[in-house]
Amino acid sequence: MADLRPVDVLISAEDIQRRVAELAADIHRDFPDGVHLIAVLKGAFIFMADLVRHLEGRVSLDFIAVSSYAKGTTSSGEVRMLKDLDYALDGKDVVIVEDIVDTGITLSYLKEILKARGPRNLRTACLLSKPSRRKVDVKVEYIGFTIEDRFVVGYGLDFDEQFRQLPYIGVMDAGLYANIHAKQERIAHGSGEKMRKVGAPGAHLGEVGLRRVAHPYPHPAVFFGNGIGARAQV
Ligand code: 5GP
Repeated sequence: MADLRPVDVLISAEDIQRRVAELAADIHRDFPDGVHLIAVLKGAFIFMADLVRHLEGRVSLDFIAVSSYAKGTTSSGEVRMLKDLDYALDGKDVVIVEDIVDTGITLSYLKEILKARGPRNLRTACLLSKPSRRKVDVKVEYIGFTIEDRFVVGYGLDFDEQFRQLPYIGVMDAGLYANIHAKQERIAHGSGEKMRKVGAPGAHLGEVGLRRVAHPYPHPAVFFGNGIGARAQV
């Protein structure tokens, strides 16, 4: 257990559950006849699972997967579809369920392609929003929490495919986050080299020149006990 990455609790499991119930109530108020939810894989899978259990009325589900790439010197990122929807959207009241809106590039791409499929309404629920990182002005109707420019994990969000199972939102080590940003900046101002953004399938610590998180690590309860803001030990 010598090489564990420190993670601080930013939003507790209790606060998340309370807020998700409020978001479900807001969505039900706006769409009392029912709603068609589209979760963006993989990060939104836990948020989606909790949201639907709080939703009253008719609810249907679908899933979509995309990957984002940082590219070139402009704010226009490149987003690719990895898995399309199973169902048509014509005439449906649709809510996109996202884990986090960062630059807004992914969501703005999603809204564009889904709008073209003729839903009656198209709205977005995101658990987290980082407005200070926005490069694209994109409307989000239901926001769980607005957070500062920190790299977060847990509750579906990963780092190198780890930490998704944490029941809370945790913050990665600040130095680590600075390294990730530095690498992204180098690529943005470089030769057009592409890098998978953190969170995208296949992103590896090796790409940002960082120490790999130790595996296996203990269950989060062992990590943090019950203390909010508790810090895992290295
Ligand atoms: P955007 O296109 O808005 O810049 O990026 C959205 C995607 O980037 C999210 O769906 C998520 O996969 C990833 N992302 C952005 N910020 C974070 C973060 O703080 N933590 C994690 N784990 N992923 C993030």
